Amino acid sequence: MAKKHVVIGGGPAGMHAIETIRKYETAADSEIHLVSSETPYSRMVIPYWMAGQISEDHVLTSSESYYKQDGVTAHIGQRVVEVNTSANSVKLEGGSNLDYDNLLICTGSGAIKPPIEGVDLPGVHNLWTMEDAQAVLNRTTQSSKVLFIGAGFIGFIVLNALYKRGNQLAVVEAESHVLPRMLDADAAGLVEKWLQGLGIETYTSTRVQQIQQNGDQLKAVFEDGHSVEADCVVVATGIRPHIDFLENSGIETDQAILVDDHLRTNVSNVYAAGDCAQGPDLSSGNQEVHAIQPTAIDHGRVAGANMAGQDVNYRGSLLMNVLDVCGLQCASFGQWNAGEDAETFQVVNEARPVYRKMIWEEDRLVGTILLGQTNDVSSLNDMGMLKGFLQTGTPFGIWKDHIRKNILDIRRPYIACKVAEQLLNQTILPEPTEDLGYRHNDEQPKNDPGPHHSVFVNTIAGTPKDIEPTSNDG
Ligand SMILES: Cc1cc2nc3c(=O)[nH]c(=O)nc-3n(C[C@H](O)[C@H](O)[C@H](O)COP(=O)(O)OP(=O)(O)OC[C@H]3O[C@@H](n4cnc5c(N)ncnc54)[C@H](O)[C@@H]3O)c2cc1C
Repeated sequence: MAKKHVVIGGGPAGMHAIETIRKYETAADSEIHLVSSETPYSRMVIPYWMAGQISEDHVLTSSESYYKQDGVTAHIGQRVVEVNTSANSVKLEGGSNLDYDNLLICTGSGAIKPPIEGVDLPGVHNLWTMEDAQAVLNRTTQSSKVLFIGAGFIGFIVLNALYKRGNQLAVVEAESHVLPRMLDADAAGLVEKWLQGLGIETYTSTRVQQIQQNGDQLKAVFEDGHSVEADCVVVATGIRPHIDFLENSGIETDQAILVDDHLRTNVSNVYAAGDCAQGPDLSSGNQEVHAIQPTAIDHGRVAGANMAGQDVNYRGSLLMNVLDVCGLQCASFGQWNAGEDAETFQVVNEARPVYRKMIWEEDRLVGTILLGQTNDVSSLNDMGMLKGFLQTGTPFGIWKDHIRKNILDIRRPYIACKVAEQLLNQTILPEPTEDLGYRHNDEQPKNDPGPHHSVFVNTIAGTPKDIEPTSNDG
């Protein structure tokens, strides 16, 4: 009899899991049921739609023909309210049950609203779903003023989209600097100056106490007495995993659902992936929540392979944040926030602006922060190379001393230490990934790449000669 896989949640984790199951099993081998309260789409693409760079249907990642092609029974618009691990079944809102052989929970996370007076007024929105984005677009025109409560990663991604759209912007952050969970105070100081230079009002170390309505206008009153008027307020103060429905299921949770290096929970036929999963961290080896798209995709692929009977071990996800703040590229990877005792190399150039920090354990890089202008190609290249060092754990050896003196010259150690070769050998699944085709357009046959198809080619141009470090290069 065919196996039955049930996947809860049609975000990137769920969709990549389904595609991976179908890599190993045909529709004759297994049934796949997808239960998702929202239609499958990529939240990460929402800002491009808001900025007018892509159309709404390009946010979507699935369609009827896709389900048919991959033999998926889709229960879209339906919510799972309970999991019964003894009976191997899930209960849907409305009372019906769906049984499973393997269950994958990919319910992601949802935005929270802090207890501020007036937070439920019309014109005050979270920005996590397509519905939220549509509400903000309906509420505002290009000339509207938008206030962001919370200067974190998601708030700034959306702020960047509205900057491109031409909106007037202000941002307020309770902590002492912007992007507190992504940058240290020095790097954040450069970001704040950059924003001020663009006319974006930035308030830190203060909280919004109350939001008042005055006709169509909103007024946010801060605890330090300041106030800002705006046409729309976006609340971006954090997210919480969707795991409440697991109460009494016996599935172990901490900050999210605890999973091992196979993305398996404490119940052997139940897996979890993406924002709702707390899995292995590449740098520390601890179980961490990394609520980012690359982790969701990796988790989904590993869980899908294991559900299909493979034995795929996950090395762990790298904590990474890469963000364009209105033309200033900011990135942090790994243990960027290591304690004061950690060995650190750092350079700051306020005028360009450029910032780089590298955190070491002996001759291995364990974390980094980079900041530079978005149109600075060498800074973007360095970002990829440093990420490669972290992902492979390659020691710098004698090149560490070179970096001490030439912190901006990453290219030469990257080649000399053969990081690219090691990256090519590190794949999530044992086999290369196939082109999964173009999913969102019903008219498009699977093998037609469609307008958004892109080909990623990894090339190594010849075999580089070994390069010896010198002190005045770069
Ligand atoms: C505006 C925005 C921009 C972003 N930009 C970036 C970026 O640039 N880089 C980056 O790395 N990350 C980014 N992210 C974060 C990234 O989108 C998430 O990490 C990613 O979506 C997580 O994927 P997921 O599949 O785990 O969960 P989700 O994408 O949240 O999908 C979860 C799915 O589960 C469904 N669901 C939830 N509960 C239930 C239930 N009980 N029953 C049935 N279905 C349920 C939901 O409806 C949803 O379809 C961004 C997020 C937002 C909102």
